[in-house]
Amino acid sequence: MTVVPGQKGTAGIEEVPEPGAQDGALLVRGMAVGICGTDREIAQGAYGTPPSGEARLVIGHESLGEVLEAPAGSGFAPGDLVVGIVRRPDPVPCPACAAGEWDMCRTDGFGERGIVRLHGYGSEHWRVEPDFAVPILPRLGELGVLLEPASVLAKAWDQVDQISRRAFFLRGRALVTGAGPIGLMACLLGAQRGYEMHVVDLARAGPKRDLVEDLGARYHSGDAADVDVDVDVVIECTGLGAVGRSAGRQLASGGIMCLTGIMNLGPTLDVDATTLNRNMVLHNQVLFGTVNAGRRHWEQAAGALAAADPGWLCALITRRVPLTSWTDALDRQPEDIKVVVDLTA
Ligand code: BGC
Repeated sequence: MTVVPGQKGTAGIEEVPEPGAQDGALLVRGMAVGICGTDREIAQGAYGTPPSGEARLVIGHESLGEVLEAPAGSGFAPGDLVVGIVRRPDPVPCPACAAGEWDMCRTDGFGERGIVRLHGYGSEHWRVEPDFAVPILPRLGELGVLLEPASVLAKAWDQVDQISRRAFFLRGRALVTGAGPIGLMACLLGAQRGYEMHVVDLARAGPKRDLVEDLGARYHSGDAADVDVDVDVVIECTGLGAVGRSAGRQLASGGIMCLTGIMNLGPTLDVDATTLNRNMVLHNQVLFGTVNAGRRHWEQAAGALAAADPGWLCALITRRVPLTSWTDALDRQPEDIKVVVDLTA
């Protein structure tokens, strides 16, 4: 699965050489790759960087594969299901990367497989270093492809937990904006923590509402500005400034708002920074952004998937596309939640 970053319309399929040993000691048979908004932005020519000296990037950062070869002592064996971690530390390294916290990189000198400077996992064979591979329980099977998006939300909630420690611990009510894969994962992880979860999305009925309600959460269809509940936590998953601003108005005193969505849209002057300042200062509020995930978040995410209802996780995957026509996965269809490329077909 290749693309020339910066050039719209170049996503396609190509024969590439077998992965070299420099990519890692584990040789893996690719099984599935999930497609997200970042992949669509790369295919649109709006994001992504090829490896140094190359024009093309093998795309795919939401991975799942089966180990074919593993050296003794690596902790892995042929037949194991694995997912590859996305980010690699800044080689210099920056202080965060030196401390093993590549997700908090200070310099943007990191690499990201399938996104920034490193080939991804969208191929029939890939390699990964054992330290950057996460084992998947055999019973999860295909559902392991959901680990990467879950890791991003595990990091988001991990930070909410840490910030909550500044005062009495809030485990009250939380609002998620957007019921796509990221919003639904945010809802799952919040419900697992014991929060009373609310999700707002424009869709009226259909699978998104069902999935939210199956978690015991309340679904609000329509505009975030019309959600009439005070919340302790907001997890913003649309990347739309106006949605975030409306959701932020529901935040209680001492509340925490986390931004996870990124959208490459033209900026609009829609924030009154003075009002934002006043509300945040007078109400002890925290607003923070989060990207990517560190090793511990991948492990937390594996625990969250293991604890979730497999039927619920399965319903998140609404479309499967064979490798030979993988670019069909980039076209959004109305009922899509998570679209997965089947690398074995
Ligand atoms: C990925 C992250 C990555 C981010 C920015 C997201 O889609 O899930 O791993 O850090 O894009 O490149």
